[in-house]
Amino acid sequence: MTPSDQDPKAPRGRNALGDNTRLVTGGRRPEWTQGVVNPPVFRASTCLFETYADFDAGIADPDSRLFYGRRGTPTHWSLREALTGLEPNGHDSWLFPSGVSAITTALMAYCKPGQRMLLPDNVYEPIRSYAQTAQEHFGVETAFYPPGVGAGIADYLDDRTAVVLVETPGSLTFEVADVPAIAAAAHKVGATVIADNTWATPLYYEALSHGADVSVISCTKYVVGHSDVLMGSVTATARAWPKLKKMAVRLGMTASADDCALALRGLRTLGVRLAQHQASALDVAHWLAEQPEVAEVRHPALASCPGHEVFKRDFTGSTGLFGVVLEGGQESDVAAMIDPMKLFKIGFSWGGYESLVLPARPERVRTAEPWAAAGPVLRLHIGLEDVADLKADLADGLARFRAARDRAA
Ligand SMILES: *Cc1c(COP(=O)(O)O)cnc(C)c1O
Repeated sequence: MTPSDQDPKAPRGRNALGDNTRLVTGGRRPEWTQGVVNPPVFRASTCLFETYADFDAGIADPDSRLFYGRRGTPTHWSLREALTGLEPNGHDSWLFPSGVSAITTALMAYCKPGQRMLLPDNVYEPIRSYAQTAQEHFGVETAFYPPGVGAGIADYLDDRTAVVLVETPGSLTFEVADVPAIAAAAHKVGATVIADNTWATPLYYEALSHGADVSVISCTKYVVGHSDVLMGSVTATARAWPKLKKMAVRLGMTASADDCALALRGLRTLGVRLAQHQASALDVAHWLAEQPEVAEVRHPALASCPGHEVFKRDFTGSTGLFGVVLEGGQESDVAAMIDPMKLFKIGFSWGGYESLVLPARPERVRTAEPWAAAGPVLRLHIGLEDVADLKADLADGLARFRAARDRAA
């Protein structure tokens, strides 16, 4: 009844159905939807047992039925199954209150005291902070490796290394990681490879088909797609699933049914939204690459981006988020550029319908490979507005940047 009991009627593997069909049909089992299109929002803490025998059967196998709200309801099961269906090598998925809790739980699931985890130097910053907690509270050591390491990860691995995290591309500086090469080396020492697949989603990058054992998505971004819910998901291979599931349940990780319904609503349109984010972002990125105020565009689909060859080999699409290195200037010049912008507002997160800009400042956090660039770095999220309006907003901003920069010089 729950997603772990696979629906014999549900086609498995991406070859069975196209992406958009899979997004529309995933998780809509009649016993969960009760005859309407969307699974109802089952708000639950207590689930009722009919009899003493029923109660005992539930304890013996809590995944066989409604058991307790924290373990999920049909609203959760529907989303779990729909997400798992996007990764051909995915066995099952769990839902979390945020992307960060999904990643930290996955790291905890595979790392014991005395062991080590390897994190990329471009890792999402809150996960870098978690590494300190892991050391202080659990005795788990962390080492940082350069994002372009590839097969060179072998130099960082030892028999205490339990986990290698990859984030591809890195969400501030956009290096694309060679996951098959990293995974081949990591698996030799028995390490588990966790991929943060938030940027591409399984639609454009099947992390579990490229050697990762565990794929994490901050659903907050493109799955939800409307900047109004925090949620994370972890999809794991059959081999990696039991440890993940056990840790998630022990830590009490859960998501609200209302949020699951919103995430399901977002998921149904993920394909068309991503296609538009992709087209608009590529248009803006190519245009930016030609502006004199821009030193470098960090977009995985552009040849100038580190790891572009790997991107071409492994990814089937790109999304709306990329970086821009400005030509010279300082932070006050960037403020002159951004503050009056009409469509690009300053904000964390991304993946909603709206465009955003963020000062990235990688030089403040890197440790394995110092960051050096021609000027300040901005991260742009290209939303669903008309591209002409976005370019006009950016053009005005770049003119203000140039004026401020040249005045100071
Ligand atoms: C936003 C983000 C996260 C964290 O997700 P939350 O849902 O905000 O906790 C993790 N990884 C990447 C790459 C992200 O962009």
